[in-house]
Amino acid sequence: MIADNLLKIQQDIQDSCALVHRNPKEVTLVAVTKSVDSATTEKLIECGIKNCAENRVDKLLQKKQDLLKYPDVKWHLIGNLQRRKVKLIVNEIDCFHALDSLKLAEEIQKRVEKPLACFIEVNVSGEESKHGISPEELLSFVESLAALSKIKVVGLMTMAPKDASVKQIRKVFRTLKELRDLVQTKEFTYAPCTELSMGMSQDFQLAVEEGATFIRVGTALFKDEEEQ
Ligand SMILES: *Cc1c(COP(=O)(O)O)cnc(C)c1O
Repeated sequence: MIADNLLKIQQDIQDSCALVHRNPKEVTLVAVTKSVDSATTEKLIECGIKNCAENRVDKLLQKKQDLLKYPDVKWHLIGNLQRRKVKLIVNEIDCFHALDSLKLAEEIQKRVEKPLACFIEVNVSGEESKHGISPEELLSFVESLAALSKIKVVGLMTMAPKDASVKQIRKVFRTLKELRDLVQTKEFTYAPCTELSMGMSQDFQLAVEEGATFIRVGTALFKDEEEQ
């Protein structure tokens, strides 16, 4: 089942890329494994998945430990990170997708050994329930990271609003891309900001059409798999 789901998703990525003349190699599929156990995650890896994501520190650490025999897998933390948990996780991950405050960045700077690839989470839709920096504050936030040598801003991340129309979702993704391009024009060495982490099971095709380079897909990979 997982293998079939994965093939279908890969085909959808290719189709979306073809529509807008993009190379599918530009799109990294990050498998969000938060709803499944380590054994199911292992099946995914055996199918060729090389990037796994969790939104909770404890679950990520557990899975990474269970799957030590796959040292090439990259681990992404995609959820909101509490400052007191920073020291537990920052040296265990390859990429953090939800940087949203200077205090958090300072804590990462203090605890991480090597520079960490970070996405700044942007609350494009303005929903109060969402984390993230507002679009208006983004540039000054990026500037405030200049002195933090271990924070590498690789790109921007967002979540589309729930129950939104295709048009609204596209607008959110398009705005994130414009914001990314804006940061790029500043040519900050610590913020190359070339990547866009956007698109989940429901909307990754739209995200790819709008320029996503990392899509975070969970449920679509596991549908029809036995209940855990
Ligand atoms: C759960 C989650 C996803 C994946 O969502 P699906 O709808 O299961 O594909 C992506 N990004 C974040 C931040 C998540 O928490």
